[in-house]
Amino acid sequence: MVRKKILITGGAGFVGSNLCERLLNEGNEVFCLDNFFTGQKQNVVHLLDNPYFELIRHDVTSPFFIEADEIYNLACPASPVHYQYNPIKTIKTSVMGAINMLGLAKRIKAKILQASTSEVYGDPLVHPQSEEYWGHVNPIGIRSCYDEGKRSAETLFMDYNRQNNVNVKIIRIFNTYGPNMHPDDGRVVSNFIVQALQNQDITVYGEGQQTRSFQYVDDLVDGMIKMMGTPNEFTGPVNMGNPNEFTILELAEKVIKLTGSKSKIVFKPLPSDDPMMRQPDITLAKKELDWSPKIELDEGLSKTIHFFKSII
Ligand code: NAD
Ligand code: UDP
Repeated sequence: MVRKKILITGGAGFVGSNLCERLLNEGNEVFCLDNFFTGQKQNVVHLLDNPYFELIRHDVTSPFFIEADEIYNLACPASPVHYQYNPIKTIKTSVMGAINMLGLAKRIKAKILQASTSEVYGDPLVHPQSEEYWGHVNPIGIRSCYDEGKRSAETLFMDYNRQNNVNVKIIRIFNTYGPNMHPDDGRVVSNFIVQALQNQDITVYGEGQQTRSFQYVDDLVDGMIKMMGTPNEFTGPVNMGNPNEFTILELAEKVIKLTGSKSKIVFKPLPSDDPMMRQPDITLAKKELDWSPKIELDEGLSKTIHFFKSII
């Protein structure tokens, strides 16, 4: 077997740490790069004894040089609470991070995958969202630093492909959850589970009628690796998510049931520009990658609850 050298930016975060572990288990050499803004050493500490794993503290807004065969570009805070904390830094991370990593990929002739997002569709007017939909994004709102940063990164990926023949892959990830989410991450699944396990109020924003489609992290990791393995001509973008759609209120009720919690549901104001609905059309992923998610919400939530019980 050929041992590939793989760079993962944002590798100490939630998705990144799950991807590091899988790629190491498959016999690769993994360079995990992170500035530890939202990621933590704790997520990868168990990998440090592996001679084929290296942890590098670095910020993707500065250039970085290493020899690698593949780059997964995940560096970027993903929770609204975290990406809105320093919005200028968020957009710099997406845009300058993309430029620096694409420049590296060009120089070392590596394949590079961009972790884009369903947020490129904004508050969608088309449902479910397929890759042909150009989106409905507020360019000046509080979510724009993330949405427009990710949209610009997609532009850069496609331009480096057309202008410099860089072998690029773009995936648009829909709401993903699972082990290694930070208890203070701020996203809905981790908030609800932590609240339920501590018998605190479950904070539903708005009336809880907005929908999301939740994907378990192992399914995403499978899809990312499959996408990296597609022929050079296939750049994407391709949606990656679980099409089963739930209201936020349904999610709250499920978490209470699965944890056996005494928590009550309370309603808080809906943040501005919060998308009303989100559901991936995954026809393209099925066709090009022969991929579809395997783990349904109840099973994935149970595994995630098990993880949070072990850390809080
Ligand atoms: P996360 O916040 O847990 O991980 C992001 C990682 O990037 C963290 O380890 C953080 O420290 C690191 N990082 C942030 N800014 C950096 C910088 N300037 N330089 C170096 N490292 C930096 O979030 P996640 O859920 O693991 O998301 C990973 C990627 O997937 C992100 O790019 C995110 O936009 C994308 N994504 C995730 C989801 C999801 O539901 N989890 C959905 C859509 C897209
Ligand atoms: N949400 C909620 N309570 C929380 C956190 C989030 O009701 O404690 C809602 C949020 O308003 C949104 C949905 O859950 O409608 C998903 O939010 P998240 O931050 O997980 O991701 P988003 O899809 O908005 O980026």
